[in-house]
Amino acid sequence: MAFTEEEVKSEVIWAMKALYNKGLMTGVGGNASARLPNSEEIWITPSGLYKPRLTEEDLVKIDLEGNVIEGVLKPSMEWHFHTEIYKRRSDVNAVVHAHSPYSTGLAIAGVEIRPITLEAALMLAKVPVVPFKYPGTKELAEEVGERIMGTRLLILQNHGVIGVGYEMIEAVTAVEILEEVSMMTFIAKMMGRLIEIPPEEIEVIKKLYRI
Ligand SMILES: [Zn+2]
Repeated sequence: MAFTEEEVKSEVIWAMKALYNKGLMTGVGGNASARLPNSEEIWITPSGLYKPRLTEEDLVKIDLEGNVIEGVLKPSMEWHFHTEIYKRRSDVNAVVHAHSPYSTGLAIAGVEIRPITLEAALMLAKVPVVPFKYPGTKELAEEVGERIMGTRLLILQNHGVIGVGYEMIEAVTAVEILEEVSMMTFIAKMMGRLIEIPPEEIEVIKKLYRI
């Protein structure tokens, strides 16, 4: 968990490297932001730069209206949906956006994530899909804002995914798990069969893990 501004910044840098190394985004294709708990200001990745090579000095601090407070570069063009999420979710201190190929591809194909693993059954029971809006627009941010309550993940139709968390590791992990389950779903579908965990088993699992 980040307790200082420096830690917040290093988490953002780490998230971009982690998502890139996992093949969940191209060098210019994703973005991330984070804040200290209850802060009205966030650190966000800059627009246009090659994200896995970012350093702390490249990050931009903005308020929740998008005004630049610190930094020389332009904030990510997707700052609208980042700030929209922080405005609505006081429990969220980290937001990541990636172009996860399998998660996004399944949504493009209209395939729903089914309870095929423990994590899929518990975490991904309902991943809302945000209808297509042009990247970087207020319209996209509004659609995101309407669906972000009560979830850790969103799929942006024909675009990518958003993961949120109390801290950065949660947001990144959510995006990783969604992609893993999407790959499994894709493989099972290709093989022509998809065996789900029965609903009664899911109930037992929920009790067992107290979810
Ligand atoms: Zn994007």
